[in-house]
Amino acid sequence: MAFRATVLTLYPEMFPGHLGFSLAGKAAERGQWSLDAVQIRDFATDKHRTVDDTPAGGGAGMVLKPDVLARAIDSTSENDNRPRLLMSPRGKPLTQERVRQLAAGDGVIILCGRFEGVDQRVIEARELEEVSIGDYVLSGGEPAALILLDAIVRILPGVMGNDLSGLHESFEGGLLEHPHYTRPQEWEGREIPAILTSGNHGAIEKWRHEQSVSLTKKRRPDLIGAQKPEKAG
Ligand code: SAH
Repeated sequence: MAFRATVLTLYPEMFPGHLGFSLAGKAAERGQWSLDAVQIRDFATDKHRTVDDTPAGGGAGMVLKPDVLARAIDSTSENDNRPRLLMSPRGKPLTQERVRQLAAGDGVIILCGRFEGVDQRVIEARELEEVSIGDYVLSGGEPAALILLDAIVRILPGVMGNDLSGLHESFEGGLLEHPHYTRPQEWEGREIPAILTSGNHGAIEKWRHEQSVSLTKKRRPDLIGAQKPEKAG
């Protein structure tokens, strides 16, 4: 069964956004994945279709109402065991490992917050997994959901032209990726490193691995030793 994403949002027009283009867009056309954007407001029951209210205890901003959100979630997730995610700066920071796990499943249900966020009770009652895309605050969960889905869709089987091209990428082996070069051989006085045009594949692999290790040590020492070493070569 193809990977199925359902996004609950106040701005369904923001989807599929950039995922309608390039490899992700073509893969959706081929039926390799699908995205359904659901308007949360359709689950409000009052005359004004209210989705938010002032924070209990006072303070700035508005909070998305638990009853409306729960109805929206329940409408999509009956007899459905896809993970229910809430985009949230308080969530566990997204990793390539989590992306790979999600891509291996049937799909995801993603709730996008807005304003100050969502009522805590719906997070608990519907067992939402809070996912953060980084230590900064966005104005809404929609761009975060698009980023999460981008990371998932690109590794679905058959989406990238060459399925092997994901193998050596940053994070996949616990390391940042080595630098890339392409023609021309000399550009503004800078040469492509000679080893890459030597034809010696063993030496090239070794060079790339060394570059990965030294780049990771310099830029992201926190990654060294943080993941399984067996894929590092
Ligand atoms: N008051 C909240 C921030 C709300 S931002 C707090 O301080 O934690 C509004 C919405 O944007 C959030 O509900 C969430 O869905 C989304 N969002 C903001 N930053 C995000 C991040 N780093 N990762 C994922 N979602 C984010």
